[in-house]
Amino acid sequence: MDNEIISILKKFVQQQKTVFGIDGYYGIFPLKKELKVGKEIQTYNFTSSVKDKVWLLKNLNLQVHQCKNCPLYTTRIKPVFGEGNPDAKLMFIGEAPGYEEDRQGKPFVGKAGELLTKIIMAMKLSRQEVYISNVVKCHPVKIPDPNLRNNDRPPSEEEINQCLPYLQQQIEIIQPKIICCLGAIATKALTKTDQPISLLRGKVFKYYKNENILIVPTYHPSALLRNPKLKPDVWQDMKLIMKYLNSI
Ligand code: SF4
Repeated sequence: MDNEIISILKKFVQQQKTVFGIDGYYGIFPLKKELKVGKEIQTYNFTSSVKDKVWLLKNLNLQVHQCKNCPLYTTRIKPVFGEGNPDAKLMFIGEAPGYEEDRQGKPFVGKAGELLTKIIMAMKLSRQEVYISNVVKCHPVKIPDPNLRNNDRPPSEEEINQCLPYLQQQIEIIQPKIICCLGAIATKALTKTDQPISLLRGKVFKYYKNENILIVPTYHPSALLRNPKLKPDVWQDMKLIMKYLNSI
């Protein structure tokens, strides 16, 4: 077996350990603290290259595509893992895929996604420069028929708890400087703060698993489509993010 194959196998085993808590850590990445058994993701010092990040994300994406950890797998058409720059300084996190995302397997591609793209462009960035994902990777539906329109619902607590380890792992791999949480569900998932988004936006939090990563909550683009009067608040939040990004 040549060195490249051995290296790939070692990385795979390390990732399995990270995601599922199984035995087999081979010391590819230096650990910051003890690994926990179960689905809880531990924090570790990630000092890998962009090539490694691409590989780890691809592997995690495969696991999401095979996931049956919650009932949403029974009605999904395509899981929506996330997309963008694997080495992004800025991540945008929404709550869950909707009808269009379920069809395309891509995050934020419906009307709310178009608005998010405009917001990103107004920040003088592109979708390719940031990373976009959701707390939950499969489409939550009210009636178990993925072909019905206007059938979206928010993910349940149980679905969020089952899926969150995937997002936590994405964050650990990408190591962004800032995460912009779009809406209350993403904000609660990453800050453990259970307050209305109107009270949380405009503030800066630290990610509970890695205090070097800042969290800036704002309104979900869907909320802006329903109520355009929220746009100035969102732009204020984006300016806060740009200020932090420029100071890095
Ligand atoms: S929503 Fe998440 S936990 Fe549930 S089946 Fe999809 S990937 Fe698995």
